[in-house]
Amino acid sequence: MSKIRMTTPLVEMDGDEMTRIIWQQIKDIIILPFVDLKTEYYDLGLAHRNETDDRVTIDSANATKRLGVAVKCATITPNADRVSEYNLKQMWKSPNGTIRAVLDGTVFRTPIVVKGITPYVPNWKSAISIARHAYGDVYKASEVRVPAGAKAEILVTDKDGNQTKTLIHDFKTAGVVQGMHNIDISIESFARSCFNYALELKQDLWFSTKDTISKTYDHRFKDIFAGIFENEFKNLFEKAGIEYFYTLIDDAVARVMRSEGGFIWACKNYDGDVMSDMVANAFGSLSMMTSVLVSPDGVYEYEAAHGTVQRHYYRYLKGEEPTANPIATLFAWTGALRKRGELDGLAELSDFAQRVEKCCIETVEDGIMTKDLCLISTLGNKKQVNTADFLIEIASRI
Ligand code: NAP
Ligand code: MG
Repeated sequence: MSKIRMTTPLVEMDGDEMTRIIWQQIKDIIILPFVDLKTEYYDLGLAHRNETDDRVTIDSANATKRLGVAVKCATITPNADRVSEYNLKQMWKSPNGTIRAVLDGTVFRTPIVVKGITPYVPNWKSAISIARHAYGDVYKASEVRVPAGAKAEILVTDKDGNQTKTLIHDFKTAGVVQGMHNIDISIESFARSCFNYALELKQDLWFSTKDTISKTYDHRFKDIFAGIFENEFKNLFEKAGIEYFYTLIDDAVARVMRSEGGFIWACKNYDGDVMSDMVANAFGSLSMMTSVLVSPDGVYEYEAAHGTVQRHYYRYLKGEEPTANPIATLFAWTGALRKRGELDGLAELSDFAQRVEKCCIETVEDGIMTKDLCLISTLGNKKQVNTADFLIEIASRI
């Protein structure tokens, strides 16, 4: 059998712990037997990030800018424990944060829906993707504890030195104050990433903020989205038969619960943080959540939403067989291969990605799954398999 051809390499970002093992298994069992795989390989494993003073992470992000599509394995974000465990030169930053800063993108998270793993919300029939704005607001705020009798004001000094003051509060008793910001260009990138992704998925886009209360701050988000939609995307949305609508966050929450799913919900930074955890859990499992970073100029980086599954890795080091669920990482690969196929006009490659996803879902729906899914699946005829056997079963169906 001749293998499926690729013309442009994927940026391959290898990672850490259990997911690094799964990464290799996916390549060996599912991809390499069928695809003449071309990748530009970057080892983002913590040891190599440390050796290169984290240069490798920046290089991999720049390569993604150049080549357009990346697939990333989960990576350790070091904390104090990791600094001693890996004998690190310093507590390197989160690779995802570094990559996002280079690509300036928006992260979309989408659950993989299969029969037998029933959403806790019974009327949700298809996936809801959450788009979270990843800049500013409470995540880049300054906070101060304020004593009784103090007055807090917002002071803005423009470039000519003119000052405007806005009263926040006259503190008769002690309290707290917080100052946060956002910038137009970041909101504009966020809006464009969302509109482009909606066109790609051919799904409606919802956007919600609290503009009735936040009449300047949140209202700015609403206006920027409306302006960009009107000027750049309205016709494209009409042609694609999809809709953009803005609504108040309270109304969005109520509608989401009553919906059947199958749309993208764009959220401000904090709302997206909270709502993506809600949606992921309500759909059933973290191990079934995919994630893609889409930059405003159309660069894509695919990964699983979960981490390196550390506890499983320590058991693996003691000699236990890998039993972690590879589905979200597999879908990162298929997402990247499909996108590469689309961009390079290689229908065979895109079809292969589609087929792998279909075979994977059929395998689970036929009752063959890893332990985490076995625990929650409502199917009657379940068979629990380890990671490799699960992948071998999928491969046999391709
Ligand atoms: P995690 O790796 O997502 O795992 C949390 C727990 O969820 C696991 O212990 C496991 O539960 C379950 N789980 C997650 N994925 C699974 C899978 N594929 N199959 C089976 N079970 C799965 O999160 P964490 O333990 O908080 O973080 C571990 C490391 O990952 C950290 O160093 C963190 O920095 C990193 N991290 C990286 C990313 C990223 O690269 N995008 C994201 C998050 C975290 P049981 O142990 O109960 O089976
Ligand atoms: Mg969160």
